[in-house]
Amino acid sequence: MTIKNHRTSVAPWLFSLLAITCTPAFAEQASTPPSNLLTAAVAWKQTAAEFEALYYQGFNIARLQLDRALQEHKAGDRPLAIISDVDDTVLSSNSYWGYMINSGKEFFDDEAWDKWVADNGPVATPGAVEFLKYAQSKGVEVFYVTSRDQGEKTYEYALANLRKNQLPYADDQHLTVYRDSSNKEPRQQEIAKDHNVVLMLGDNLNDFKRKYYVADVKQRSSLMTEDKEQFGRKFILFPNPTDGHWLKAIFGDSEPPATAENRAKFKAAAGANAWQVKD
Ligand SMILES: [Mg+2]
Repeated sequence: MTIKNHRTSVAPWLFSLLAITCTPAFAEQASTPPSNLLTAAVAWKQTAAEFEALYYQGFNIARLQLDRALQEHKAGDRPLAIISDVDDTVLSSNSYWGYMINSGKEFFDDEAWDKWVADNGPVATPGAVEFLKYAQSKGVEVFYVTSRDQGEKTYEYALANLRKNQLPYADDQHLTVYRDSSNKEPRQQEIAKDHNVVLMLGDNLNDFKRKYYVADVKQRSSLMTEDKEQFGRKFILFPNPTDGHWLKAIFGDSEPPATAENRAKFKAAAGANAWQVKD
């Protein structure tokens, strides 16, 4: 049976509705997901002054702690050092996420990320350059430890991203890039042999300790709580509502594919511990 054969038997309003729904624009709209679950997170990153203020807050606290460590530092002590993550800590990924929203993409897209990195897309986060240059002015070395993989040019791109944004210590003695692992502890331990690491900067708990790398929401929370005294002291944490290992705790994968199943999981995670109307 075709619509044409039934023209005379359907009500005129139903025929009009069918005509509208068969237009290409409607068909395209109907085939796209109802909403991108990251829209609110990206809108917040892109527009909220509060998001920027949290970076200033983090770097202001870092400076207070650094000044305290400098006052306590005595001749002969191991030199002070800072270990910092790169993405979403000292370099912002906002323009990449804006691209993702404009392209109708959800979750994470490795191909787009790699092109954005190679195109020198990242810009410094608010307060990062000022704080790290302050540390440098006090003779405190900054070591960058990051996990990235853009193939053979991974290291070159990471260095270029830091240098383009005038971040100090952008050289091969101070930048470590792990291509095959997100475990940063081997390099962290190496740095700690010769330095007193007074601050660690990151947007992901895994930037501080590998023990947080677990795929369970409640376990992550309880491991973090064990170290609650460290936040704002040694660990300076920056906000990231779009990516990181908190996603691994929900999906079992830090970069889950944008499937209907994962969209449902994301929605279920957002609705956990929800208030329910009492009749
Ligand atoms: Mg990061």
